[in-house]
Amino acid sequence: SCNVKKTYKICCLPGDGIGPEIIAEGKKVLAAVGKKYGVGFECADELIGGAAIDACGNPLPDGTLEAARASDAVLLASVGGPKWDTTDPNAPRPEQGLLKIRKELGLYTNLRPVQIFAALAGASTLKPEVIDGVDMMIVRELTGGLYFGRRERFYDEDGAGADGKPGQRAYDTLEYREYEIERIARQAFDAARKRRSKVSSVDKANVLETSRMWREIVHRIHDAEYPDVELEDVLVDNAAMQLINRPATFDVVVTENMFGDILSDEAAQITGSLGMLASASLGDGVALYEPSHGSAPDIAGQGIANPLAQILSVEMMLRYSFDMADAADDIRRAVTEVLDEGLRTRDIADGSTPAEKTLGTEAMGDEVAKRI
Ligand code: ATP
Ligand code: MG
Repeated sequence: SCNVKKTYKICCLPGDGIGPEIIAEGKKVLAAVGKKYGVGFECADELIGGAAIDACGNPLPDGTLEAARASDAVLLASVGGPKWDTTDPNAPRPEQGLLKIRKELGLYTNLRPVQIFAALAGASTLKPEVIDGVDMMIVRELTGGLYFGRRERFYDEDGAGADGKPGQRAYDTLEYREYEIERIARQAFDAARKRRSKVSSVDKANVLETSRMWREIVHRIHDAEYPDVELEDVLVDNAAMQLINRPATFDVVVTENMFGDILSDEAAQITGSLGMLASASLGDGVALYEPSHGSAPDIAGQGIANPLAQILSVEMMLRYSFDMADAADDIRRAVTEVLDEGLRTRDIADGSTPAEKTLGTEAMGDEVAKRI
C-alpha cells in the first residue's frame, strides 16, 4: 500500500498493586485513539518496581532501561506495596526503580495538571465559584535546588547552642545553574503555547540570589524566544495564597524544585479528587507519563480501581510526546462525558447525582474508549 502508517513504540511499565489493572485501561483507550486516527501504538510491557525485584532482584532491570530508551514514550502505572517493605537498609526497594529511571532518562521537568471536572466539583473544599474554571499546569524543576545541594550537620564548639555553649549546626545549599533554568523555562513556555499562553514564574526574588538569577533568565528566554506568551512573576508566598483565592487565573506555573514540591501538593488539593490527576516527567528525550496516585495495595486485584488518572496520563502523552492535540482533547472530552453521565468508580462515587452508577475498572475503561 502507498499509505505509510505512523507507528509509535510505547514502553509500558505496569509495576505493582493496581498498576496492571489500570494500565490495561490506558492501553485500551490508546487503541481506540489509534483506530480513529490511523496511528499504530505498539505497547510492550517491561518490569519495574516490586514485580522486577521478584523476577530478577532489581527494581530497574537493564532490559527495562534499554526498552525505555528505545521507545517513543514510557507509560508507567505505579510501584510499591507492603510486600516489599523491609527494615534491611540494603534490600532493594520498588521506589528505587522509579527514581533511577527518571535519572537515567534525564527527566528534569515534572508537569502536573490541576483541573476540575465539573461533575466532581463537590469534592473540593473550596467554594464552587472559586474553583469554577480551574485548569492549570504546575511545571516543577526536578534536578536542582535544595534537594541536590551540599549539606552538612556538625557539632560547633563555638556558640551554636544556647548562651554561647557548643551545639549543633546544619546547612543545605540552594544552587542553580544557568542551563537548568533555561531548559525548564523553555518547557514552561512550550507548555503554555499548547494551553492559554500564560506563564506565572514563582520565585522569592526579594530574598534569594538564586531567585534573582531565575527571574532574570526566565525573562531573557521569554523576550528572545517566546514574546507571544504572557509572563508574570509571583513571589512564592503570594502564589501559595493566590492558589486558594483565585486558582482559575493561573495557566502554567513554573518554579524551582522545592517550591514546586509544595505548591503542586497544595494545588492538587484544590480539586478534591487526587485519584483523577496525571503527571508527566519530561527531559530532552523520551518522556514518562504516570498517574499521581500510588499503587493502592489495599484494593489491588479486586477490579475496582479508578483507571481515569492513568487514562489522563495517556492524554498527556498524546499532547506532549506525539503532538496529537485533537486525540488528547478526545480523551479529555470522553472522560468529562462519562463523569457528567454519573458513571463512577467506587472512590469517586458520592451520591451527589441521582444518575450515579458505580462501575469496575474495566467497565470504566470501556466507557471512555467507546466515546473516543
Ligand atoms: P504513594 O505510593 O505515592 O506513597 P500512598 O501509598 O500514600 O501513595 P496510594 O497508593 O495512592 O497512596 O493510595 C492512597 C489511598 O487512595 C488508598 O486507600 C488507595 O486505595 C486509594 N487510591 C489510590 N489510587 C486509587 C485509584 N486509582 N482508584 C481507587 N482508589 C485509589
Ligand atoms: Mg503507596
